[in-house]
Amino acid sequence: MQLQPTASHFINGEYVEDTSGTPIDIIYPATGAVIGRVYAATPAIVDQALASAEAGQRVWAKMSGRERGRVLTRAAMIMRERNHELSVLETHDTGKPYQETVAVDATSGADALEYFGGLAGSLTGEHIPLGEDWVYTVREPLGVCVGIGAWNYPTQIACWKGAPALACGNAMVFKPSETTPICALKVAEILHEAGLPAGVYNVVQGMGEVGAALVRDPRVAKVSLTGSVPTGKKVYAAAASEMKYVTMELGGKSPLVIFDDADVENAVGGAILGNFYSSGQVCSNGTRVFVQRGIKETFLTRLAERLKDAVIGDPLDEATSFGPMVSEAQMNIVLGYMDKGVEEGARLVAGGNRLDRDGFYLEPTVFADVRDDMTIAREEIFGPVMSVLDFESEEEVIVRANATEFGLSAGVFTKDLSRGHRVIGQLQAGSCFINSYNDAPVEAPFGGVKMSGVGRENSKEAIKNFSQVKSVYVRMGDVESPF
Ligand code: NAD
Repeated sequence: MQLQPTASHFINGEYVEDTSGTPIDIIYPATGAVIGRVYAATPAIVDQALASAEAGQRVWAKMSGRERGRVLTRAAMIMRERNHELSVLETHDTGKPYQETVAVDATSGADALEYFGGLAGSLTGEHIPLGEDWVYTVREPLGVCVGIGAWNYPTQIACWKGAPALACGNAMVFKPSETTPICALKVAEILHEAGLPAGVYNVVQGMGEVGAALVRDPRVAKVSLTGSVPTGKKVYAAAASEMKYVTMELGGKSPLVIFDDADVENAVGGAILGNFYSSGQVCSNGTRVFVQRGIKETFLTRLAERLKDAVIGDPLDEATSFGPMVSEAQMNIVLGYMDKGVEEGARLVAGGNRLDRDGFYLEPTVFADVRDDMTIAREEIFGPVMSVLDFESEEEVIVRANATEFGLSAGVFTKDLSRGHRVIGQLQAGSCFINSYNDAPVEAPFGGVKMSGVGRENSKEAIKNFSQVKSVYVRMGDVESPF
């Protein structure tokens, strides 16, 4: 399979190369081998991408919603047909096991294209009667939108931002994370194969400075970022100075609350999904696992037993269920947190080490007896490190769960459904779960509160975030003026 992309960028409907930009090696996380290279966009490439988006958007916005929807739906079909190849590519880009990528990445990207493709024909305004006068509203596109991605879900992020933007009649310039540059190019290629007019979805490579250049360009109307809180603050500030719209999908340190009466197997399964899927590199992970004292020992015992079933190895082997970290840098950050956990007195009950093999592999790691003030309970780790904290009462756990600057997700496991709803109702988070964890269907809004973000992706909410409303007052009679 061809891993080296045809060229670094995709602009105006075709691949574009410019080797004068900073080289970015593409590293396969399972081996550490360089499998390809792209070049960061130069100012000339950034300019070309934005100019092509501006021109493409004018063509695209003139098409009917149904016509736009047809292109997106066709792209979704192509993505599904090519799921295997796209999943192998995603595995090379990120190191995530094929077992995951084949089930989640291109398929959830296709879900977004299909869902927003379906909505595109029904994006209408309102009619507001005012006696004999009336107002009508028009839902208009914003213009050129910039998407900036993180490295954990490169295909999904490219689609979650692109699909609603395009459904509303916008054009997009997407900058993938420099750590995972491959997959977004395939999304662009497929969209154009499905009939997208040239220039409507462009991809440019580069580090933060390329993202920053896109954000500050006056041709850009909106920025949708998936990334960390520190980057989010910079991008939000830059966008605010030009009064641009933003969607910010940022980090988290989400609570997963397990009550005594919970089904233990389901709670352990939820905690595994919410900490070790994608080797823990998921923004919405429930990394503060609050376990009520009565169930603590049973929970930890079953967790330890089930961790032994993790198949750690070659991500391309379908049996593998736990792969490497995305990069050496991220692995070292996580190792630092593992050391910190031990240093600050948390009880290491599983893992804690790098694996003795090529690539950036860490062990799934669990700390018990974690206190709220420990670094591992306060900071986003973005790796396979679960912190288990004890609690006694419902009131206490709600206060402690909310004592964080983040507010992306929250989960509750209990058989008492009224308690489940009561507790979730008081947790400060945007994407919540009762007796489940980390489901992200495109039909449901996704996003955070507090420092975890602004705006929502997916669902009809995303339409609001990629369009603006024009209201038109229509007077049927004469104008009455004072003089
Ligand atoms: P990051 O913040 O380092 O980078 C994100 C993107 O922003 C990259 O493409 C990067 O090149 C770009 N960037 C960096 N500085 C910039 C600047 N000044 N202007 C414009 N763009 C800039 O994040 P990461 O390490 O790639 O990803 C991990 C983070 O992303 C974690 O905090 C995680 O929680 C978060 N994340 C959030 C979600 C969500 O939906 N809420 C999903 C996935 C990841």
